[in-house]
Amino acid sequence: MRVFVTGGAGYVGSHCVRELCNAGHDVTVFDNLVGGHRQAVDPRATFVAGDLSDTALLGRTFAANRFDAVMHFAALLDVNESTRKPLPYYRNNVAYTVSLLELMQIRGIARLIFSSTCATYGVPPSAPITEDMPQHPINPYGRTKLAIEWALRDSAAAWGLGATALRYFNAAGAASDGTIGEDHRPEYHLIPVVLEAALGKREGIRIFGTDYPTRDGTCVRDYVHVEDLAVVHRLALESQPPGVFCYYNVGTGRGVSVRELVDAAREVTGADIPASPAPRREGDPPELYADPAKITRELGWRPAHTDIRTTIETAWRWHRSHPQGYGE
Ligand code: UDP
Repeated sequence: MRVFVTGGAGYVGSHCVRELCNAGHDVTVFDNLVGGHRQAVDPRATFVAGDLSDTALLGRTFAANRFDAVMHFAALLDVNESTRKPLPYYRNNVAYTVSLLELMQIRGIARLIFSSTCATYGVPPSAPITEDMPQHPINPYGRTKLAIEWALRDSAAAWGLGATALRYFNAAGAASDGTIGEDHRPEYHLIPVVLEAALGKREGIRIFGTDYPTRDGTCVRDYVHVEDLAVVHRLALESQPPGVFCYYNVGTGRGVSVRELVDAAREVTGADIPASPAPRREGDPPELYADPAKITRELGWRPAHTDIRTTIETAWRWHRSHPQGYGE
């Protein structure tokens, strides 16, 4: 298939692009390189540097290629920042996705795989989270992703878009060959922050909230390996039913607390990793982990990585061999 991938130079996007290229798909990456890295893009893919606000460039790219499908990763994704600066989130995530959908409709491209998030559930009534639980996001980031899901659902009903929303839990780890991995600037995600502390690049880490109603007082998350996520995207694309909106939770089904994760990272790295309690971070729900039964049943997907230590090991390999990430 000829696949147009927005945000294909980013963390999850770059791993998916590689998976698509490995499976023989013809991939064009569109990325503004604000959060992404040119070096992360598989050399087999065509690269177009551009921003989703540039509808003229998007239009030319679509006119020059006959894409069969779009995978849409490009987004702003810092939950905390979204609480302070919501409007860039609504513009980048919602408004630019609407432009992309308009162009797809004009060009007759009726397949989309969308990076959604467990943040659309807000604080779920219980865990694990199933897809039929109410979506009441508690931060602007989650609300922008839910708004896009509505646009996809309505587009499926109105003009036959086949759209699949993959509600990821926490993307984690790095390519098993150590060549691509996570490089956000500034970095604020837990695993890379912990590994930067193990490398001595930070003195230690802060644990945001130790008084949550969880088993050890710290937040519980479901860390799904980025290569497992890449496989899900390919499967979702290859088996996508036409003209309907589908949605899946994508996680391992196992919850890991912040303290458990730091302990696992100490084991993997052999480093001390000083961790000090800090106030809760605004917008963080206490406990998020997936019930992946639906995606296992319908797409036949099972994560290859279910032990947080092996996920951290792949991330550690990347961080040790690329202490400056992708460099300048
Ligand atoms: N976290 C933390 N210290 C950090 C970074 C994150 O305690 O320096 C916690 C955060 O509060 C959340 C979990 O680790 O409960 C995962 O955060 P991350 O930003 O990696 O992903 P999120 O769950 O926000 O998508």
